[in-house]
Amino acid sequence: MTEILSVREARQAESIGKTVLLRGWVRTRRDSKAGFSFIELNDGSCFGNIQILAPNSLANYDSVVLQLTSGCSVAVTGLVKESPGQGQATEVEAAAVELLGTADAETYPLQKKRHSFEFLRTIAHLRPRTNTFGAVARVRNQVCYSIHRFFQEEGFLYVHTPVITASDCEGAGEMFRVTTLDIDHPPRTPVPPAQPVLLAGVPAVPPAQQPVPPAQQQDGKIDDTKDFFERRAYLTVSGLLEGETYACGLGRIYTFGPTFRAENSNTARHLAEFWMVEPEAAFFELPDNMDLAERFLKRIFRDVMEHCPEDMQFFNSQIDKTILETLTGICDSSFERLPYTEAIDILLKSGEKFDYPVQWGMDLQSEHERYLVERHFNKPVILFDYPRTIKPFYMKVNDDEKTVRAMDVLVPKVGEIIGGSQREERLDVLLTRMKEQDLNADDYWWYVDLRRYGTVPHAGFGLGLERAVQFVTGMANIRDVIPFPRTPGSCEF
Ligand code: ATP
Ligand code: MN
Repeated sequence: MTEILSVREARQAESIGKTVLLRGWVRTRRDSKAGFSFIELNDGSCFGNIQILAPNSLANYDSVVLQLTSGCSVAVTGLVKESPGQGQATEVEAAAVELLGTADAETYPLQKKRHSFEFLRTIAHLRPRTNTFGAVARVRNQVCYSIHRFFQEEGFLYVHTPVITASDCEGAGEMFRVTTLDIDHPPRTPVPPAQPVLLAGVPAVPPAQQPVPPAQQQDGKIDDTKDFFERRAYLTVSGLLEGETYACGLGRIYTFGPTFRAENSNTARHLAEFWMVEPEAAFFELPDNMDLAERFLKRIFRDVMEHCPEDMQFFNSQIDKTILETLTGICDSSFERLPYTEAIDILLKSGEKFDYPVQWGMDLQSEHERYLVERHFNKPVILFDYPRTIKPFYMKVNDDEKTVRAMDVLVPKVGEIIGGSQREERLDVLLTRMKEQDLNADDYWWYVDLRRYGTVPHAGFGLGLERAVQFVTGMANIRDVIPFPRTPGSCEF
């Protein structure tokens, strides 16, 4: 009986002796003078290929087997045997090779040689067939699985917050607008017409009935009340504010979904569309939040090493030779916890020459973060208690009145991987903070209500999924750890 197996299954010694059907894509073909061809077959189920031995006794040996090129899709039926070769337990002796789809060797872009990641970004539809992108996809999948398992086991409830929102959570203008207005001819609020001129004997038309001349309409502001939601709407930059409403009712929740930022930062760590995990817990204070973040990251790192060993070996040998050692080291030690003010002292005393001079009150640049993490402590650092002036209104003000209960988790190379805080649960302080940041409390009435009715201490954080995948794989550019990266000027696929 023929069993349909994945390449991963067929590579295991337990499959020896089975007659199997394998389907996948040809990586390479090599012909031996001894009367058979070797086909390296991959189906994405694991990093490694399986070697297919195709004897020249096959009826279609000349017409099909000898025509196979990289990228062809095939179905192979055959017997799994113990492999005499090194580094593989099994191989398959083909009884039949069926060609499913050709891949013209003249034009198929993925030939044997190694391609640059820049080039592969231009063929994002084909890069899943490469070693590296297959490995990234499997690790990314494992990270997502671990995220859900971790929070479910810790008693957090998965909640969905909206993708379209009217609130600007960060108070910054880096949001994508969502509109159905005709942007070439948007409706405009009428400009108050000039006082009608009273002509002798002719009654003046009341202002309301006077048509507004087109020239005047052009001067009006875009009329958002004519838009789909009858107000301005955006793509979310964070599910935090909505997440808090569920935490303040259900206790422990997390959101996990796409997030959008129109920041024009063309860096190796920023995407315009990325995925964020945001746990939020009632009755959590900042130390609880730090403990959760540390347990969470260690769980992800451990799971990836345990469940994706072959992929991680590849990253360790081809992408970043220190990655396994780094991850193991992190899992076996504790994160450094450092108040912002002490971090500033360390930086000032470092004797380093930074591009951005260090002073209390500044937002740390990645050069500062990297110094602390990679040179000074050489392990992940949780920085906390940042100046109130550089952090959003919803973070809890400390007794010193100068700092807020913010925390950023910094890791080597990637820098900030998590940003979080204990939230301001005192109504009066929250309102003061909103005023301080020129926000209109009426726009956030439902958020403010959480402090008005049954307020509780609570805290949470956001982990950028791609930053996490970037960190565990050692991949240098965040564009290579998401299938279809959206960045300024780039939205092809
Ligand atoms: P950064 O300072 O690195 O731009 P941030 O402080 O703006 O990040 P937060 O608002 O704290 O980020 O968001 C929480 C997490 O989301 C970050 O710690 C990071 O992991 C991730 N993140 C933020 N912006 C991006 C982005 N543009 N692309 C990918 N991940 C991001
Ligand atoms: Mn942050």
